[in-house]
Amino acid sequence: MKYKKESSKGNLIVLSGPSAVGKGTVLSALLEEYKDIYYSVSATTREARAGEENGVDYFFMSTKKFKSLIKKNEFIEWAKVHNNYYGTPKKYVEETLANGRDVILEIDIQGAKQVKECFEEGIFVFLAPPSLDELESRIYGRGTESKKAIETRLENANQELKQVEEYDYLIINDQVKNAVKKLKAIIIAEKCKV
Ligand code: 5GP
Repeated sequence: MKYKKESSKGNLIVLSGPSAVGKGTVLSALLEEYKDIYYSVSATTREARAGEENGVDYFFMSTKKFKSLIKKNEFIEWAKVHNNYYGTPKKYVEETLANGRDVILEIDIQGAKQVKECFEEGIFVFLAPPSLDELESRIYGRGTESKKAIETRLENANQELKQVEEYDYLIINDQVKNAVKKLKAIIIAEKCKV
């Protein structure tokens, strides 16, 4: 017997949350232990940080190139985040979903809103810090941004935390291990949905 879900497309999971909440860490840990999900690498105009690899962490590109891709309609969504452009390439996501595989995006709230308009059936997960103070110490602790950039990110975070009601799931990132466990549980449960 063939159930409907078996023949359907993969699920699109959207993971959002304020800067420095630990999305990258949670996602890397998830991808390490759960192989049935495919990560969509975003394009960005921001400078690569030490240790970041083109095509793995991001597709790093000039603003000119990014804008030409917008014109060609090659992004599912794009947004200006903390003064840089970020976008999700359309082709990879569409093809992977069509092949029945789950795809996960790690994008900001503006981007998640756009995805919701074209992928109503997407699964929207919000990762939140235990508190704003905790977020502040994490972002300072990371030490990758200038003071001005940190201030912008904290200001944005305050606004972003108010958007949680737009999401299907909320995960408080108190400990990476717990957050990963919850994210994995959500993904697996959604796969079993009738
Ligand atoms: P970071 O510069 O710290 O890697 O990322 C900054 C912010 O941009 C994070 O909130 C991250 O989720 C978001 N971001 C990363 N890729 C994308 C994307 O493709 N689209 C959008 N809208 N935001 C993204």
